[in-house]
Formats: sequence, structure tokens, C-alpha cells
Amino acid sequence: MITLDSPVEAVLGSVASRGSKKRSAIVDGLGLRTVGDLLRHFPRRYLETGRLTRVKELRPGQLLTVVGEVSHSALKTYTDRRSRRPAYRLETVLHTDGADLSMTFFAKNQGTASFFARTYAQGRRGLFWGQVSTFGQQWQLTNPKAVLFTAEGDSEDPDTFAVLAGADGLFPLYPLTKGVESWELQRAVTFARGILEEGQPPDLLPADVRERQGLPEARAALDWIHAPADHDQVAAAQRHYRFTEALVTQLVLARRRAASRRQGARARTGGGGLLEAFDARLPFELTAGQCEIGEQIFDDLARSHPMNRLLQGEVGSGKTVVALRAMLRVIDSGGQAALLAPTEVLAQQHHRSLTALLGDLAQGGLLGGAEEGTRVALLTGSMPKAARARALLEAASGEAGLVIGTHALLQERVLFADLGLVVVDEQHRFGVEQRAALTGKGATPPHLLVMTATPIPRTVAMTVFGDLEVSTLTELPAGRQPLQTTVVPVREQPAWIDRVWARVREEVEAGRQAYVLCPRISDDSVEAGEVPVVDYDDEGNPLAPPAGMAAVEQITSDLSREQLAGLRVERLHGRLPADEKDRVMRAFAAGEIDVLVCTTVIEVGVDVGNATVMVVLDADRFGISQLHQLRGRVGRGGHPGLCLLVSAAEEDSPARQRLAAVARTSDGFELSRVDLELRREGDVLGASQHGFRSSLQDLRVLRDEETILAARDEAERLLAADPGLAGPAELAAAVAALELSVESEFMEKS
Ligand code: ADP
Ligand code: MG
Repeated sequence: MITLDSPVEAVLGSVASRGSKKRSAIVDGLGLRTVGDLLRHFPRRYLETGRLTRVKELRPGQLLTVVGEVSHSALKTYTDRRSRRPAYRLETVLHTDGADLSMTFFAKNQGTASFFARTYAQGRRGLFWGQVSTFGQQWQLTNPKAVLFTAEGDSEDPDTFAVLAGADGLFPLYPLTKGVESWELQRAVTFARGILEEGQPPDLLPADVRERQGLPEARAALDWIHAPADHDQVAAAQRHYRFTEALVTQLVLARRRAASRRQGARARTGGGGLLEAFDARLPFELTAGQCEIGEQIFDDLARSHPMNRLLQGEVGSGKTVVALRAMLRVIDSGGQAALLAPTEVLAQQHHRSLTALLGDLAQGGLLGGAEEGTRVALLTGSMPKAARARALLEAASGEAGLVIGTHALLQERVLFADLGLVVVDEQHRFGVEQRAALTGKGATPPHLLVMTATPIPRTVAMTVFGDLEVSTLTELPAGRQPLQTTVVPVREQPAWIDRVWARVREEVEAGRQAYVLCPRISDDSVEAGEVPVVDYDDEGNPLAPPAGMAAVEQITSDLSREQLAGLRVERLHGRLPADEKDRVMRAFAAGEIDVLVCTTVIEVGVDVGNATVMVVLDADRFGISQLHQLRGRVGRGGHPGLCLLVSAAEEDSPARQRLAAVARTSDGFELSRVDLELRREGDVLGASQHGFRSSLQDLRVLRDEETILAARDEAERLLAADPGLAGPAELAAAVAALELSVESEFMEKS
């Protein structure tokens, strides 16, 4: 009898003893050390042996699966044309219930050749599959894969033959490595299932959970995933494994939530008059969504455990005001708030616009400042020493109720008197570790609000971002003008580019301003962290990008000399010194620049209401969500906006399809879905986000949303009845193992 912990050698039998190469391919190549590892190595797909291809309906290139008997077999020697060496091929004829097929097996050396000759000798029956081609009038398979039936009484080389269990059902094909055949794994798995000890594998799922969710027991799932009779069994087994994994993950998260609740946070219930004074002087009415989410947040802040909330909403939906009101609430309760921005430009912009919104409320303690006012400090990496020292002092003394900054805020030297709330803007640019560094700054953990214009599926927020509650702003503030987006296909319509610049000139002459976006700073540099989008062909090979992407430096000088001569054209990108960036942004905001040629440094948060046109050069180099965010910069000030996506990509190329999608709809959530579907899972989760990324096995956070939500409910229910998880021992052990592995991954990274 064996258990899941037995070494895999226990079930490899003569497969492994035939040479340590095979053993090491299985143990080291596939990483299958124990019987449990082997049984968790699931088939990649299944061949439908019950529904074999009819030979008379064949088309060249088709994948053929067929049962047959070798009716003729002859080994031929020939001289390989390239190497001039002798080579071998075994020519066979396969007799099927339809037409006969010819099968050829090529071998480079004599050893392999004679192995083939023995394996595919006349009279051998088996299952064969591969791509068919025609040779003359004859259908043929070249180097097909095969599983051979054991012939009765055939004992000359029994190891070569797998017992084809349930040949009427689905035949499993396993992920392989060099030197291992699928049937060898199937054989070992079948053997292991046959001699597995009673009670193995253990059922992690408590019986009531399993019944509520309509899932098979662990033993049935194991048998069905490896040797299913039909697709329903495969599906049921997969549901079992996915749910189990989701439940373990959700238990880890639910326990973290419980721990953070126990740890506690200070409730911030207001009391000062700052928020009230601010609301009274707001120049506009809050939308219904802003009010509602505001109340949600105030409720969260009033609790004695930390808030963990994600605020999502399109660019321009008014997230900043919602966050500011939350921060004022905390300041009213005697605490401080920190606002973290991903770039210096954005930190400066926030500092300017929040200070402006607050008016004399931002002059607390100063002559002429409002009595209930506070101070707003800015802290970025490139500030002059003296200004930096002052900001540090204001944060530490508590004089500044609101501290705005970039990741410089994460440094250890930054101290707060009483940090009550951390707001992270455009959170997808921050890793979990960085957020942890900041939330670790308070005496008690601060409340956390993260904001994003890139919608994040609920399950991703739950699993990857440590279980955030999600609020969504769905409406745009009143008075927002419609935005028209048009693709300018310069490959088919080269003359249209002149129309583009003429249009920019018209807008400027009407008193408006324009952005010109480029994917690069100069010929040899791009923004740090920016990777131009690359498309892939059907086989996953990267397609070469068109040569010569537009670069800010070049385009600025070209435009100001030629197409836009006479207009005030300036440039902005991440390589400029911080004070220069700040000067250019201020000048653009003040209307002293007509056309701003720039990179994606303007992507997030920049708000210049008078800008009405955005020209994106080589637009196919940007991702869908990025383009959508970028165009949110225009048409914000009561004038209709226009976004022109200039691209030299070919019609019908994936690049042009992406652009067409952006032009077609202005619904950011719809675009985000399109974008997520086009990306791979790893990209969805983000590289440095969380230890769960590498531990997710069968679960996919997008595909398995319902499973994850159901598992979350079950996790809450289990912990409510049994907080220490003392009942289900196996489940508790799996949860502990995952906690440990996530923790050690986190430690390695920090
Ligand atoms: P987001 O951060 O979601 O992209 P912002 O908070 O920067 O959006 O808001 C965009 C612009 O809309 C800002 O100029 C802001 O002052 C303005 N705004 C916000 N809420 C409202 C509202 N309820 N009515 C009118 N204008 C608003
Ligand atoms: Mg914003």
C-alpha cells in the first residue's frame, strides 16, 4: 500500500528501473517526487477514443485519432541528404475500420530504429494520432504518437505497452518532458490509483460544503480527472479541484481579514468643521455616486478595524473629490492623511489642485487662513533639501493634515504624528509590498483607500490585492462633453495626417489647446517602465513593430518648424528635471502653451480643461486601457473633445483592431474587459503583486469568478462557526501550508 507521500519510484515499477534516465526525467524533469505529485499532474487534454475520425472524411493537416492494427512493417535504410549519414525509417501500414493508412517512423540511429521495428511490428494494435498528410493517393501519418494495447500472452517486452484503461472513454494526454511518454505516466497513475491506501486522497472539503456546492468526493475526482468515462466526469473533477483551491485561498484571506480586525484601527468619526466647510464651498454638486460612496467610506472609517477599499471609476469620474472628502473626515478626527501618487508630475498636480479646491482651508495656522483649516505638504524625491526638510517636519509634527507625495513617502525617515488614512492613486503602479510599507507607518494601522481608473475584476481585487472591498463610480459629473475618437490610417490615407495638423491649428486658433502623444522620448529612449505593446501572431511569435516610432524630441522640433510653425509648442517627458516638468505643466495649465508634445507622463490625473484635441502618434504602440485613459485628458472643460489615433499599422492587423475598439466605444469597463480577455492571466495578476500568483494551480481569477465568490462565502461560514479551523484537520493543514508559502515568497522579495 502507498500513500500520497510515498516516493514516486514506488509506482514507476520497471518504467524507472529500465534506466535512471527515465526516472530522472519524471522526478527532475517534471518535478514529480511523490505519488501525490504524480496524481496532481493532471492530463492536459483528452483524446476521444469513442469518437474516432472517419478515414473517409479526412482533410490534409487534420489531427487524426484512430484505432488500428499494424498489417505490414518494414525497416528501410537510406542516406540522409543533409548529414550524408545512414538513416532509418520504418514503413508500416495501419489497417483501420476505414481505409488503410500508411505510417512512417523516422529514426536517426540504429537503436531507435530497431526499437520502432519491435514496437510497431505486424499484428500490433493500438491507438494512433497525429496530423495527416497525403502522399500520392495514400493518406499517411508521419511519426504519429501511439498507445499500444497489450496483446494477450505477449510478454516479450511488456513495458512498452500501456494498458489502455477504458478504451471507450476519454484517453488522457499528460503534459510531458523529453524522455517521458504520456502512456508511461498513465500507467504509473493507473497503478498508483489501484494500490492507494484507504482514505487517500483525503477529502479537504467538509461534507456539508461539498454537498452544498454539488461536488464529487476527493477519490471520485481523482479517478475522473485521470480516467474519465465522459466529459461530464472531467468537468465535475475540475470543479472539485478548482473549488478546493479557491476555498483554501479564501480561507487564508478571511483569516487575514479577521486578524486585521483583531489588530484594530482607530475609528475616525469626524468632529471638526473642516469637511463641512469644504462641502459648503464646493463649486459643484456631488453626483449621487460620489455621495453614496462617500457615506460608505465614512462608515468604514468609523469602524475600529482598518478600511480596505478600492475606488474605481473612469478618468474624470471625480474620484479625487471623494478621496479628499475622506481625508478631510480623518483630519476632522484629529488624524492625518497621506496621498500617494505614482509619478512626480501627478503628485505635483494633486498638490496644486487639492490646494486650490481647499482655498483658505489649506492655510491652517497661517495669517488669513480659515480657522478650521489644515496644511497640505508635498514630498517628492527631487525636492530641494530645505523644502523637503520642511515637509518632513510638517508631517512629523502633525501640522500638515494632508501629505501628498510619490514613493518617497515610503522611505523610513518619513514620520507622521498620527497617520489615519492612506490613499493610493492609480494603484496598479504600486506593489503590495510598497503599500505594506506605508500602512506600517501608523501606531495603529491606518485605513486604506486605493483608486484606479483601470477597472479591476472583483475576484482579482479579492485574491490579488489582499481582499479589497470595491466601490465603483459609474456616472460622469454633469457637463462633461462627448468625446469623438477617430483612427487615422496613414498607411492607406497618407494625406490625412495633414488634416490632423490643420485640425490642431483650428482648435488653437479657437483658443483651445492640444496634446500630441508619442511612444518615445527620443530615438533611443522610452519612459522608464514603459514597454511598447507588441502583437503576436497565431502561434505566439512576436510581430516586428513598424520601424521608427515617433519620438517627443524629434516631433517637437519638426512640428514647431513646419506643420505647426507659429504656435507655442513645448515638450514634456520623464527625462526632464522635475522643476522643468513642473514649469511646463503649469504653463500648459495657464494656457501659455498651445501644443504639448509628450509621452505618457500625462497619463494619469492631469487636468487641463481647455485642452480639446489629442493626437496620438503611432497609437498602436499603446495598450487599450492606456489609450482610454490618455484620451480622458481632453474635453473636460465644457468643450467637445477629439482624439485622433494615428497609426501606420496594416488594416485588419491586431493593432488596428485594438484601435478600432477604442474608437468604437467610450465605455471604459467594456474596453477593460476586451483588454483583459486579450491578455494572459499572469499579466492580469501583475508580476509583483502577490504570492498567490505562483501558487494558483487550477484556478483562473477571470474564468472562475463564480467559484471564487462561492468559496469566499463558504470560507466566511466556516470561520464564523470555527474561527480556529479546529474541525477539518486536512483543510486546516492546507491553509497553513499556503499561508507559509505566501509568507516566505513575500520575505524573499522584501
Ligand atoms: P478622476 O480622478 O476620477 O479622474 P477627478 O476627481 O480628477 O477625476 O475629477 C475630474 C474633474 O471633474 C475635476 O476637475 C473635478 O474637479 C471635477 N468634478 C469632480 N466631481 C464633480 C462633480 N460632481 N461635478 C462637476 N465637476 C466635478
Ligand atoms: Mg484622478
